[in-house]
Amino acid sequence: MSVFQHIEFDNHEHLAFCHDKESGLKAIIAIHNTNLGASLGGCRMWPYVSDDEALNDVLRLSKGMTYKAAMAGLNQGGGKAVIIGDPRKIKTIGLMRAMGRFVDSLGGKYISAEDSGMSVTDLKIMAEHSSHIAGIEAKYHVFGEHADGNPAPSTAYGVFVGLKSTVEFALNKDLTGIKVAIQGLGHVGLRLVEHLYKAGATSYVTDIYPENVDKAVSQFGAIAVKPEDIYDVDADVFAPCAMGAILNPLTIARLKVKVVAGAANNQLATEDCGQLLKDKHILYAPDYVINAGGIIDIYHQKIPSSHEAMRAHLERISTTLTEVYVRAEELNLATNVVANQIAEERFNKKA
Ligand code: NAD
Repeated sequence: MSVFQHIEFDNHEHLAFCHDKESGLKAIIAIHNTNLGASLGGCRMWPYVSDDEALNDVLRLSKGMTYKAAMAGLNQGGGKAVIIGDPRKIKTIGLMRAMGRFVDSLGGKYISAEDSGMSVTDLKIMAEHSSHIAGIEAKYHVFGEHADGNPAPSTAYGVFVGLKSTVEFALNKDLTGIKVAIQGLGHVGLRLVEHLYKAGATSYVTDIYPENVDKAVSQFGAIAVKPEDIYDVDADVFAPCAMGAILNPLTIARLKVKVVAGAANNQLATEDCGQLLKDKHILYAPDYVINAGGIIDIYHQKIPSSHEAMRAHLERISTTLTEVYVRAEELNLATNVVANQIAEERFNKKA
């Protein structure tokens, strides 16, 4: 199959196929667009069943990073890396070192960070061989919370402020007494429950691990729901904070909420699900706009900044979402379509 004809190719600027014989590393680095600045995006390690599957994933993810960075107001482009293989079986120090050298060979056009299957420890090994690794130390923290470079606290805060402004736009209300159904109580979801609790909202929560649910119930007065029942909760907001592609015609038909606003990446099973939400009068916060807190955090760790500047930047997520909602109303379009339009306007105009 021709890479240039690939269905996800979409004008990628640079693709690097990386192989290191000694460590066995097989990886692909994709740089989608650098009009606004060097590309930034995580490095994922995954047991892809084929090279094609890995290529498809890296192309899709790096393009997504261009849109996310543009909407987050960063002078940054979009890129991503994937390492082919099961992290629990083949990850070695030698493999991480080789990956660091490949990232370095691109001379800063691609800045790597954490993604599934990778840890801050792995990135630190890569950073021994490249200065183009981000998210390995946190100088600025939201609310003084200790962070090791994992941007989840910032993502959770960004989702919280974005959810708040989406509720204001859709329901003309603050969060007092608002009911939020949250799917997934991991690094982001549990922190979101805490923010909502402090703001006077009630969370209906689910996770496949009961201990995560117990924490939300005991610490933040949340109400437990079975995983299969989360779409049916009679709430105001649905906040997907687990996996992607969960909004499809069947789940959307079950929703009783007026707002969808959560952290998960790629929430829409297909782009036309955005229109289905609109048809049901559900205001959808486009995922890559509301969950940009992580990339904003990583960006601030790389530049001379401050706790206050990072927090103010995270809070601008709500302004960006409102811009999307106003234009979507004016043009009578789904919010995901409008977010794409605004992102394209931004990154097609060179910095
Ligand atoms: P995480 O792995 O820490 O948490 C995900 C949680 O979802 C886990 O507790 C898991 O048990 C639960 N879960 C999985 N399947 C479920 C199901 N079917 N029903 C209910 N719960 C289920 O991940 P995270 O860091 O909290 O990220 C959550 C989502 O947000 C992911 O989609 C991630 O890609 C996205 N995201 C995260 C960040 C970040 O900074 N961590 C940034 C941007 C986007």
